[in-house]
Amino acid sequence: MRNLYIAGNWKMNMVPSEAAKYAASLAAAAKDAKVKVMIAPTFVCLPGVVEAVKGSNIIVSAQNVNDHEKGAYTGEVSCAMLKDIGVNSVILGHSERRQYYGETNEFINKKVLFALENGMEVDLCVGETLEEREGGRLEEVLTAQINVGLDGVTPEQMKHVTIAYEPVWAIGTGKTATPADANAAHAFIRGLVEKKFGKAVAENQIIQYGGSVKPSNVRELMACEHIDGALVGGASLTLEQFLPIINCVD
Ligand code: PEP
Repeated sequence: MRNLYIAGNWKMNMVPSEAAKYAASLAAAAKDAKVKVMIAPTFVCLPGVVEAVKGSNIIVSAQNVNDHEKGAYTGEVSCAMLKDIGVNSVILGHSERRQYYGETNEFINKKVLFALENGMEVDLCVGETLEEREGGRLEEVLTAQINVGLDGVTPEQMKHVTIAYEPVWAIGTGKTATPADANAAHAFIRGLVEKKFGKAVAENQIIQYGGSVKPSNVRELMACEHIDGALVGGASLTLEQFLPIINCVD
């Protein structure tokens, strides 16, 4: 039985004072949550959010990290910097980073390997565009994203990897994949994980769904066999929306 993992990607929202205040109220409200909970504020909000959730069961994650130890990489943030402030988790390969910043599967793989070598938990995002889905390329795209993105990762390291299936056409658009479509994509991803890492890893693999998850659709999505949680964007920005999502398990 896989435990549900619900994550909130705050993207480039909230200034540090707002983020810390919201994180503190979330930590208090979610103290009896039956699911694993993660929030991912932007870099400058991380120290305040880490402080605000101290002692709670909320995991704080970064939205990105660099693939080098340190050095002349202007504007970048390293694993060591994150770990020093108590952040041991990172989202990698989000579709917005793929789309707007040209991140390729190969580049994302370097970050995945580096983050894992540095003892971080990784949430790897995959998912197809509408054009790819309509062009019948869903499986081809997911296969490349999983096989290249996780190239060189060991079965042991997979304990520290969550996969988030996020169809690009469903992110921030209000369109959600039907539970059946989402479940089918998740089952396909689990099959890829099995081929690459074996049955035991695949059975335990947490695969989140992301794309316009909200209080009104979370339960039917989470009821699907292969959906083990959610990566939530817009609806993670307020307690009114995020709390019922976290509390989707009775
Ligand atoms: C996301 O940012 O990963 C996401 C799924 O966003 P939204 O929930 O707003 O569609």
